[in-house]
Amino acid sequence: MKKYIAKLPNEFKVPTESVGQRILKEYGALFVARGGAIPPNTVIFKNEAEVSAYQSGLAKEDENLGGFNIELQAAAMKNLKDAIAEAKQANLTITPRGADSAKRDYSGTVELWASRVNPGLAHYVGNGKLAQAEANRIKSLSPFEQVPEIFKLESSGMFFSKDLSKSIIYSVAPPGTSQHLSMLALDVSEHDTGRVRGILAKHGWFQTVVSDLPHFTFLGVAENQLSGLGLKKVSDGGRSFWLPNL
Ligand SMILES: [Zn+2]
Repeated sequence: MKKYIAKLPNEFKVPTESVGQRILKEYGALFVARGGAIPPNTVIFKNEAEVSAYQSGLAKEDENLGGFNIELQAAAMKNLKDAIAEAKQANLTITPRGADSAKRDYSGTVELWASRVNPGLAHYVGNGKLAQAEANRIKSLSPFEQVPEIFKLESSGMFFSKDLSKSIIYSVAPPGTSQHLSMLALDVSEHDTGRVRGILAKHGWFQTVVSDLPHFTFLGVAENQLSGLGLKKVSDGGRSFWLPNL
């Protein structure tokens, strides 16, 4: 634990409340990114203004990849393009899954969150596990305030992932917490191909969110340096994910 905390940027605000601590544990590999990456100094952006202030200070690069306009931090894009070139030599491709596969803004994360929360609430009202009034109360809260409420329902067995089988955090990020806000993440179409994952890793791109299979994060170091940043390897479904060793 100490090693990971020591590797965080000096100005990073280590969360003290339980939602923030959970986000740090699940999505936190990003915050020790190196290789020219500038991670956010907070686990949760509270609104669009905070996201814009952070994003506007970054060195960015945009590129048309696979028919989509993709914008990333410059260091992440450079290494992605190197990975794409290496893949090409092996007759492989590395392409984004869609237009929102890289940069997102705050409202994008709010929409994605609602796309899981609203059907989930309707489902649990429908099967009698949740009172309509309680669902209405949760819906009336700000996206930021909904997060602890949804985690609380999940702790009693009402899950909000797309198939309702696991936590929402393995399906969509709570508003203001997505790694895509940092412009250091990319959802890759060819994620199922082991050789593609190997090439991405060689160029500093790793999987850091357990069971979010298309999702890669630019950490900017070689794989053998990740444990030195306080990260641990978690094996799941035949893949390796790098998470904070907390
Ligand atoms: Zn993603």
